[in-house]
Amino acid sequence: MQTASLSPYFIDRVSHVREDSVWIQAQLHAGSTRLIAVYQSSVLCHNHDPRRPCFLSYSQAPVPPGTSVFLGQVDGIAYFTLSIQTSAAAEQLCNAQQATFQAYAISAPMLESDYHELLSLACFTNYWHSRNQYCGSCASATEICSAGHMRVCTSTDCAQRYFPSMDPAVIVLIEHKDRCLLGRQPHWPEAMYSTLAGFVEPGETIEAAVAREVNEEAGIHVEEIRYHSSQAWLFPNSLMLGFNAKATSTDLQLDTNELEAAAWFTRDQIRATPQMLPNTQSISYALIQDWLNR
Ligand SMILES: [Zn+2]
Repeated sequence: MQTASLSPYFIDRVSHVREDSVWIQAQLHAGSTRLIAVYQSSVLCHNHDPRRPCFLSYSQAPVPPGTSVFLGQVDGIAYFTLSIQTSAAAEQLCNAQQATFQAYAISAPMLESDYHELLSLACFTNYWHSRNQYCGSCASATEICSAGHMRVCTSTDCAQRYFPSMDPAVIVLIEHKDRCLLGRQPHWPEAMYSTLAGFVEPGETIEAAVAREVNEEAGIHVEEIRYHSSQAWLFPNSLMLGFNAKATSTDLQLDTNELEAAAWFTRDQIRATPQMLPNTQSISYALIQDWLNR
C-alpha cells in the first residue's frame, strides 16, 4: 500500500458508479469489502497494535440501515464506514473483536498509520452525518442519499439537499532572511512549535486570510504570499491550504489568546531540536522540511 500522507489519489471515489444503489449494495455484501467501525470520533483498532485498524466484513457486525456509508476503493477493495450508535454496541464489538476504539486526535498513533487518509475520512463522514440529521430550513429529518455523499430533507415540500463540506484554513511558513517564524499553542505537546494557521473568513481571499492571520496572531506584515500545497485535516473538518510568505518586519506582538509563544528560528536551531517539530504527517511539517532543505 502506498503512503497515505499527502498523496493526492489514495482513495478512488468511483464517482461514476456510486450513485448506483445496486452496485453499492453488492459492494457492501462482498467478501473482500472492509467496514471501518466508528464510534463518535474513535476508530476500532486492534488491541495488540493501536496503529492497525480492525476492519470488519459485512458478516462480522450488524449493519442497520442508514449506519453505513461508502467511502471509496483502495487497491480495488471497497471501504465503508459502520457508525456505532450506542456505548453498549461499542463495548460488544470491542469484546468480540479483541479491539478498542481509539480516539482520532492529533497525537493518535493512527496519524502514522498507512491508513491515515481512509481513517480520517471515516471519522469525518461519521461526524458530518451525525450533525446533519435534521434539515436547517424546515427542521424535518434528513436521510442518506448517493451512498452517503449527500443527505436530503424528507419533507417533500422542502427536499433541501446537503453535501459534506470542509472549512478552509490557511497555514503559512513565514521567513525573514535566514530565520522562520514558528509559534505554539498552550495545549500542544511540550516544546512543540508549528507554522501559524487560521480559518479563512467569509468574503476574503485565501491570500488575504494569510496576511490577516499573521498580523492578528503575531503583529507581522507579510508579502510574496505563495501557495505551497494542501491537506485535508479532518479533525473535525478542515482543508488546510499551505503557503510560504516573507515578513517585512520581525518585531512580534503576540495575541496570547491564540499563541502561548512564538519566535524566529534558524535552520540550525530547528535541526538541533527535532522534538519541536509537529507530527510528521502534517502539512506544517512538510512546510518546515521544505524550508530546511532549501
Ligand atoms: Zn427541509
